[in-house]
Amino acid sequence: MKNVLISGASIAGPALAHWLARYGFTTTIVENTAGFRDGGYAVDFRGAAHLTVLRRMGLLDAVERAKTGMGAMAYVNKDGRPVAWMPADLFAGDVEILRGDLARILHDATRGTTEYVFGDSIASLDEDAGGVTVTFERAAPRRFDLVIGADGLHSNVRRLAFGPEERFVQGLGVHCAIFTVPNHLGLEYAGHVYRTGGQLASVYSARHNTEARAAFYFGSPDTDVHRRDVARQQEILTERFAGTGWECDRLLAEMRHAPDFYFDSVGQVRMDAWSRGRVALLGDAAYCPSSLSGMGTGLAMVGAYVLAGELAAARGDHRVAFARYEDVLRGYAAGCQKMGDGVAKLMMPSSRAVVALLNRYYRLLPYLPGKNMAAKIGRRTAEAIDLPDYAGVPTRPTS
Ligand SMILES: Cc1cc2nc3c(=O)[nH]c(=O)nc-3n(C[C@H](O)[C@H](O)[C@H](O)COP(=O)(O)OP(=O)(O)OC[C@H]3O[C@@H](n4cnc5c(N)ncnc54)[C@H](O)[C@@H]3O)c2cc1C
Repeated sequence: MKNVLISGASIAGPALAHWLARYGFTTTIVENTAGFRDGGYAVDFRGAAHLTVLRRMGLLDAVERAKTGMGAMAYVNKDGRPVAWMPADLFAGDVEILRGDLARILHDATRGTTEYVFGDSIASLDEDAGGVTVTFERAAPRRFDLVIGADGLHSNVRRLAFGPEERFVQGLGVHCAIFTVPNHLGLEYAGHVYRTGGQLASVYSARHNTEARAAFYFGSPDTDVHRRDVARQQEILTERFAGTGWECDRLLAEMRHAPDFYFDSVGQVRMDAWSRGRVALLGDAAYCPSSLSGMGTGLAMVGAYVLAGELAAARGDHRVAFARYEDVLRGYAAGCQKMGDGVAKLMMPSSRAVVALLNRYYRLLPYLPGKNMAAKIGRRTAEAIDLPDYAGVPTRPTS
C-alpha cells in the first residue's frame, strides 16, 4: 500500500488526504502549528467544477450549512456613508465560507483515516529508488513512498525539494492584513469597504454577525518585514492607515487585541514543474493565484481531486500520475492566476482620480447592461476545466 506524507493541514492537504484514503493509500499529514488552526478570512467556491468536487467528496451539504450568507458590500466614504455597492456574487461566489470552517469540515472528514501530526515540520528529504527518508524537526525519521507539499505560499517542501522561495514567488506589489474584531458597526451579513488612493480598508460581519473581520490592503513594492515579526507588521499597518478616515483608527486599536492577526505580501507562485521525483506540490505551494483572485481555495480543492485521482488511476505510479496531474491542471491554474493579476490592478489604483472613477462605476453598476460581467468572468475562469471522472479507478495502488 502506498504511504504518502502530506505537509500542511489547511485546505489542500486534508482534501488530498480525503481522496487518497478513499483510493486505499495510507496518509500522514504533518502541520507546523501546534494544533488545528481555526479562524481566518472568507473564501469562496464558484461555478460547476468547484461544486462538483465538493459534491463528489460528499461535503457539499456541510459546506452549504456553514456558508457565510453574505449580502452586498458597500463602498463607503470617509464618514461611513455608502457611495456604491458591490454585488455579493462578485466577491462571494456561489458559496462563501470562512477558511477555518472549511478546514474544520475537511479535518473532521479525514481524522479517522489520516494520521495527523501537529507541531512538527519536515527538516530534510532524502530520496532513493525505493522511497523518501524524511527527517522532522521533532519526530524520529520515517520512510514514505511519496511526499506532497500542501504547505502554502511559503512552502517548506518547495524550499527543500526545489530551491529558495525567491525563485518561485512573485509579489503583486500589495500587502494585506486580516484579523477578527467585534462587529461594532452592527453589520448584518454585510461589509463596508473604504478606499483611498493606493490602499483599502474593510470590515465584514462573520459567524452570523456575532463578530467581524477587518481586512486591510495596501500597495507596497518593497515592504520587507519578517513574516513572524507581528509587532513591526502592526506598526507598518498603523503608519499606513492611522488618521486616514472612516473606522480605520478604531479597527487599528482593535488590532492589538485580535486573536488571529494575519499579515503577508500578496503573491503568486510560478513554477515550470510541480514535481521532482517522488515529491510533488499542491495548492498554493505549487500555483498560488493570490488571495486577490478569489480562486485559491477552489483551485486547491480541484488540484487535490486531480492529483489523487491520477495517482489512483496510475495505481500509485507517481511518474505517470504527476505528469498527468500537470497536464490536466496547468491551463486551469494559469487562468486563475490571470484573474489574480487583473484584480490586483483594479483593486489598488494608485491615483485618486481612478478611485473616483471606480466608485462612480460601482454606483452605476446595478443599472448597466454588463452589470454581471465581472462575476461571469470569475465563474467562467472557475469552470474552465474538464474534470476527469475518477469514479471507476482502482482503489488499491500496486506499484
Ligand atoms: C487574506 C486571504 C484572503 C483569501 N481570500 C480568498 C477568497 O476569497 N477565495 C479563495 O478562493 N481563496 C482565498 N484565499 C486563498 C486561500 O486561502 C488559499 O488559496 C487556500 O487556502 C489554499 O490552501 P492551501 O492548503 O494550499 O494553503 P494554505 O491555506 O496556505 O495552507 C498551508 C498550510 O501549511 C501549513 N504549513 C506552513 N508551513 C509548514 C511547515 N513547515 N510544515 C507543516 N505545515 C506547514 C500552514 O500552517 C497551513 O496550515 C485567501 C487567502 C488569504 C491569505
